[in-house]
Amino acid sequence: MGTLFSDAERHLQKAFEHIEVSPDTIERLKYPKASIKVRVPVRMDNGDLKFFEGYRVRFDDTRGPTKGGIRFHPNVSQDEVASLAYWMTFKCAVLDLPYGGGKGGITVDPKKLSRFELERLSRAYINALGDFIGPDIDIPAPDVYTNAMIMGWMMDQYNTIHRRIAPAVITGKPLAMGGSVGREDATATGAFHTIQAILPKINLDSPETTFAIQGFGNAGAILAGLLHKAGYKVVAVSDSKGGIHNADGLDIPAVRDHKETSRTLESVYCKDDVCTLYPSDRISNHDLLELDVDVLIPAALENQLTADNAANIKAKAVFEVANGPTSYDGEEIMVNNGILVVPDILTNAGGVTVSYFEWVQNRSGYYWTLDEVNQRLEERMVRETENVWSITKEKGCSMRTAAYIHALGRISEAMDARGTKDYYLNKV
Ligand code: GLU
Repeated sequence: MGTLFSDAERHLQKAFEHIEVSPDTIERLKYPKASIKVRVPVRMDNGDLKFFEGYRVRFDDTRGPTKGGIRFHPNVSQDEVASLAYWMTFKCAVLDLPYGGGKGGITVDPKKLSRFELERLSRAYINALGDFIGPDIDIPAPDVYTNAMIMGWMMDQYNTIHRRIAPAVITGKPLAMGGSVGREDATATGAFHTIQAILPKINLDSPETTFAIQGFGNAGAILAGLLHKAGYKVVAVSDSKGGIHNADGLDIPAVRDHKETSRTLESVYCKDDVCTLYPSDRISNHDLLELDVDVLIPAALENQLTADNAANIKAKAVFEVANGPTSYDGEEIMVNNGILVVPDILTNAGGVTVSYFEWVQNRSGYYWTLDEVNQRLEERMVRETENVWSITKEKGCSMRTAAYIHALGRISEAMDARGTKDYYLNKV
């Protein structure tokens, strides 16, 4: 198997079959514009000085400053961050946000750090990145295992380094530090709009429609709540330790309450009172993916649906809330089996869309109401979902290829606006 990045690139090759772009565009999209690897020093609580590896990749900034989250996870690598930055480039273009794509990360298990250590690590990472980021250069945000508090520390550190208040350098901040209302729920809310727009097209918009969701973090847990509230049956959810399943549907608000107080779904497993209140069977992350449900939602990490398990997937539709949960080969198998795969660069774009709204509010200094944020988010998610769906039908391709065609049209237009070979040779 190739690297995650080479796997990611294969999707773009498919889009090139349907849309003509200049050779310049193809060349420009081959490699990241800039990558930085830093060694981040942190004084640990026991007095040791420990070094962590950190990355930031700016993949392409033709359409605007690069934009994308920062991930704290033991598996973070240069290859993963580059792939995530690549996806961000296309995601921002699908939603027509005036951004290119970037991503960052630190190779660390944040669950093993104290809060003091986590703060020092976050600030030290910004010290190390120095001028690589900025409100008009590259704008980070939360991603896996990072949150509003960490974004707040990072903005604070950037302000200290640059001796000015620059809230627009980072999004997903706490509200009191210039964050936007609606940002916390935005990835889930955006995914919900895409799901609502697609389900009627594939005759799955019934209260009997069943969902399984892998991942119970910011995106997965909030989305489970929205689907439950809308009257759908969420029959299985899981976190990194395992999951729970009940064919009649889970009481999601109760499950979320337990997860919040106990910090793990394990507490919902048969622990006497809890078990009798919310009957469910334990299920592994692996088995959850293969459940006989209508809709499967991977909302955790990449490479969950691969050539190893794709043939066993029984869902009729997969909505990718995680980034890159489906490998290239995995998708081929599922699409051949008639499964509709709604790609990450559309489904989970609500997060970066409200990040854009936050950045706009920071720059104008005027803050919107929750209704304004949610209405603009819905408008954009529904509009671009319909656009991608139309391309899917028109070209007879997968929804992922359609999303790449859609994004590529916008990216290549911005690239060509700077001049092409034909322009300089007086051919156009
Ligand atoms: N990490 C999120 C993503 O993958 C959000 C990025 C952002 O808000 O800039 O889309």
